[in-house]
Amino acid sequence: MNEKSEAFQKESLLYTVLENSTIQCGTCWHQCIIAEGKFGRCRTRKNISGKLYCINYGMISTFSINPIEKKPLFNYYPGTLAVTVGSYSCNFDCPWCQNWSITKKFPADVLRPRYLSPKQLISAVEKDPHIDGISISFNEPTLSLEYAIDTFNLCKPHIYRMFVTNAYMTDEALQLLITAGMTGMSITVKGLAPSVKKYCRSQVDRVWDNIQTAHNNGVHVEIICLIIPTVNDTIDFYTHVARRLFIINPNIPLHFTRFFPDYQFTHVQTTPIKDLEEAYQIARSAGLNYVYVGNVFGHPFENTYCPNCQQLLIKRTGYRIEINLDKQKGQCPSCNTDIPVFLG
Ligand code: SF4
Ligand code: SF4
Repeated sequence: MNEKSEAFQKESLLYTVLENSTIQCGTCWHQCIIAEGKFGRCRTRKNISGKLYCINYGMISTFSINPIEKKPLFNYYPGTLAVTVGSYSCNFDCPWCQNWSITKKFPADVLRPRYLSPKQLISAVEKDPHIDGISISFNEPTLSLEYAIDTFNLCKPHIYRMFVTNAYMTDEALQLLITAGMTGMSITVKGLAPSVKKYCRSQVDRVWDNIQTAHNNGVHVEIICLIIPTVNDTIDFYTHVARRLFIINPNIPLHFTRFFPDYQFTHVQTTPIKDLEEAYQIARSAGLNYVYVGNVFGHPFENTYCPNCQQLLIKRTGYRIEINLDKQKGQCPSCNTDIPVFLG
């Protein structure tokens, strides 16, 4: 199939044909059962004559060049830029979604869809010497599984390849991404199980399983908790996340980020900074080495400190970065502790 004929519609990589041309999608843990002519829950997958197709292949809602800190990834090539693309729809229902204009829109409803092939995306990355990576973001990248895999497979090894994701992909989907060379994931954990079930209609344990698998397979992982008053602003949640992450690896960075009212949550207040600071202290006390507060311009907890001697290692003011690390050795210049931060 040539590139043009692949625009928007491509056979899905993961599905099972059931009885009477019904299909079960294997891309994410919703595992939708889809009758002929119908869509799955995210409406990016359609059963056409007994085969499953993604209908958003290369359909780009957004193309931009962003600092890696915007993802946010803080211990991963700080100060670098990534070409960032997104498509439409999501497999979660978060009523606070800040990207709702694209995540609540379905590919079939886009009037003038834009196509960007994996080759075109790679060529945009390679022709700009200031760009170090590719990020699939904005909407849920799992829904662009086939596109991401084709793109990552074309990438030169020095380009980092990442997902900003709710990590609700199936094991098979995650393994395909890892095999294709995904190097980084910024993963949101939305809350404790009852909240994730209530607001996102999803099972948070699937997300935790994927955090473990990605980490075990050498993918750089950072965890993002958007702290939303009335949803997850509790000591129970902060403690649960910190303890669970500590068991996986205390060096995995954890971000507590500030919520601003949006979409169907305009009645909910902005997160008080003291709540983020409380979450930070709980996670540090639980033994996590790299905890951050996010979306609070210039806050000292946006910086990276040496977990051994507290030396300031990376200072962040918005997207302005000052690095005070021994780049050759990857060590704290004050006490020589090894610091697991990828440096360009
Ligand atoms: S990607 Fe997930 S939500 Fe979409 S059709 Fe497949 S299983 Fe359903
Ligand atoms: S998972 Fe992220 S992109 Fe999807 S609805 Fe929730 S906040 Fe929006």
